Amino acid sequence: MTGQIFVFSAPSGTGKSTIAEALMERVEALAYSISHTSRRPRGSEQDGVDYHFVTRSTFKEMIEQNAFLEWAEVYGHLYGTSLAAINAQISAGFDILMDVDVQGGRNVKKQFPESVLIFLLPPSLETLEDRLTTRGIDDPSVIKKRMAQASKEIKSCSWYDYIIINDDLEKAIYEAQCVIMSERCRRVRRMDWISTHFKTS
Ligand code: ADP
Ligand code: 5GP
Repeated sequence: MTGQIFVFSAPSGTGKSTIAEALMERVEALAYSISHTSRRPRGSEQDGVDYHFVTRSTFKEMIEQNAFLEWAEVYGHLYGTSLAAINAQISAGFDILMDVDVQGGRNVKKQFPESVLIFLLPPSLETLEDRLTTRGIDDPSVIKKRMAQASKEIKSCSWYDYIIINDDLEKAIYEAQCVIMSERCRRVRRMDWISTHFKTS
């Protein structure tokens, strides 16, 4: 059995990156999918760590070459998940953590029906706006756009497998960890291990 895909989606500012970073430290054999994007780095973001930052024309060439498992335009920028990188990590037995928007979540589920979709919600829209403001990365006009988009995105949580409310950060990280661990304990995912460790004839 190969690795499993966990998809994280949430309105921008909910805390996806914060929670994903904690999970990468606490959960073994979990690889973070580093997306490609045509947007510029923000704050302390680093190329090859947070994203692979490419030009819009390079991104379009990659689309032509079918290099993406999925891609979408979000807030006017292009974002995509490299197929080659995902295949390599899954074949190596790693589970993958992907941070994609709701269009990406839908496309991943279509191609990998066994993927696990997790939606993060802020405790309220007011808190979300506070977090975007406190993060101090986006100017007020961008925050306004993100808030307008948030209400639409939240409707898509109806077709996600799990919902985690990021109010208390430690609790949200714990719940995400529990989802990953529970999925790993499914009988179907333990069958290979059982057949190599126990003779059942
Ligand atoms: P996203 O990746 O979803 O856009 P971030 O992880 O960048 O969101 O988080 C947005 C801001 O909210 C950051 O300043 C982060 O430190 C803060 N934050 C994240 N989770 C919580 C939480 N549970 N309580 C308070 N602040 C939080
Ligand atoms: P940000 O610019 O705040 O990092 O991300 C903006 C949005 O793009 C977020 O909703 C994030 O989940 C989404 N995103 C990041 N990478 C990908 C990707 O590879 N594919 C898709 N579909 N969305 C992505």
